[in-house]
Amino acid sequence: MAGGFAQDAGPCPCGGGDYDRCCGPLHRGERRVETAEQLMRSRYSAFARGEVDYLLQTHNQSESRRALRQACRHTQWLGLSILAVDGGGTDDLEGTIRFTARHRGGALLETSLFQRRGGALAGEWLYVRAIEIDTQ
Ligand SMILES: [Zn+2]
Repeated sequence: MAGGFAQDAGPCPCGGGDYDRCCGPLHRGERRVETAEQLMRSRYSAFARGEVDYLLQTHNQSESRRALRQACRHTQWLGLSILAVDGGGTDDLEGTIRFTARHRGGALLETSLFQRRGGALAGEWLYVRAIEIDTQ
């Protein structure tokens, strides 16, 4: 696609710098997610950009592709703030992240649970579920 380069240029939706160096390589499978925070950021960016395959790959439950696509289309995400990180490091099997995700019309305040696939350090990080959700 001719527009591919232009689409990947510019700031990453997660606020971590250039998309092409931030969440882009994770979405394209060129780099491995090392921490739960990286996964959280890259899932946020995936929602903002409509990277549905990445969202499906990084959730420990199967979701409806159609529902995800609609969720991406109907919400315009404006920015992410990480408020607290507990665990989720390179030597952890589990972690929680509290964040605010701003969108047109409000904000989502959520604490998410992340675990490694298979409960082993070799397993990739997966989003498990929200353990606390507040909408504003
Ligand atoms: Zn990013």
